[in-house]
Amino acid sequence: MHQWKYQSHSWEKNSCWVDAPLDIWGTLQLWASSTMDRLALLPPHTVERNAHVGKNTTNLIASEAEDVLPLTPEYGDPLKSWWKERYTLYTGNLSAEGAKIAKESLVLARNALRRACVENDVIANNERQLKVRIEQGMKDFGSGIATLMKLLRDSSPKEFLRTKDICECPSCNKQQHSLRVSSWSILIDTEALQHVNSDPFAALALKASQTMASPPGSKCMFCGADLHEKVKVVVGAPLQLPRFIALELLEENSSETHIQYNLFANEVRELFINGSSIGAYRLVSVLLYSGSHYVADVLWPDNQQKWIRFDGRHPYNGLGFEVATPAGTTVNHGGATYHPVFLFYVRMP
Ligand SMILES: [Zn+2]
Repeated sequence: MHQWKYQSHSWEKNSCWVDAPLDIWGTLQLWASSTMDRLALLPPHTVERNAHVGKNTTNLIASEAEDVLPLTPEYGDPLKSWWKERYTLYTGNLSAEGAKIAKESLVLARNALRRACVENDVIANNERQLKVRIEQGMKDFGSGIATLMKLLRDSSPKEFLRTKDICECPSCNKQQHSLRVSSWSILIDTEALQHVNSDPFAALALKASQTMASPPGSKCMFCGADLHEKVKVVVGAPLQLPRFIALELLEENSSETHIQYNLFANEVRELFINGSSIGAYRLVSVLLYSGSHYVADVLWPDNQQKWIRFDGRHPYNGLGFEVATPAGTTVNHGGATYHPVFLFYVRMP
């Protein structure tokens, strides 16, 4: 019996900016012990938008009727059908013919999802231009990070580690939240990395424990005293124990020499923030980028725990294959050099 568990969709027309994020999304679902009928990471909500140039993209009440180009990007159905086919390949006892059908359905679902991503961002002056631009988006290259941002936009808030800024009043010692909670991903800037041997996970702990200046004129909401500094803290820690940590590496658009990271991918790592343990985490997905193509390296969630690379292009055609544990340095693959741009960690029991 042939194994189809590493079989994903194949590439077509520059689709890697959707392919690799989808393979990472699927891996996170598997780590979250999903079944075929239940998604742990909820698909983005369906929101109607106005694609007319210069109009508020979430407000359909425009003054002139011709200024409205309504679009409703649909993520939910494509993601559900992609997941159903991918799960069937992962677990199923399929004949060659059955696998071929599942692979074709995966590609259709990927294309529908790509269309939603395009419709999410496209702007146009009129109906005709809108159609042309959407069709163009179905051929053009795009951002893999932007796709991840869309896929995980409305995932359950408790699934991902988030940060927020908190001020502790020097006068009355009461804590107040000065800024809103971050999104599900946390940006690791180069400054934090310099102090921790280019280890993004350590940079996260450092970044979250750092104090910084409060905006000038900030006053305590309880006693009115001046606030001097704020500290970045992890939401709900240590009670909440988020399942995933997502770190963005600021490298997608960097043209300079890429940072050689230290990922310690074989280690289960305990995250301490301000002296408290948040949980023990392991790296499970790396989005790799060459400057023109994305591939995904993922830790496969079975007993063998192999690192598998997914590349939709020929000669791989979406069939994952075993690779070395990611080190964080640049990687040679298919004649090009890749560097990590996004990291996902999962909490270990
Ligand atoms: Zn106070």
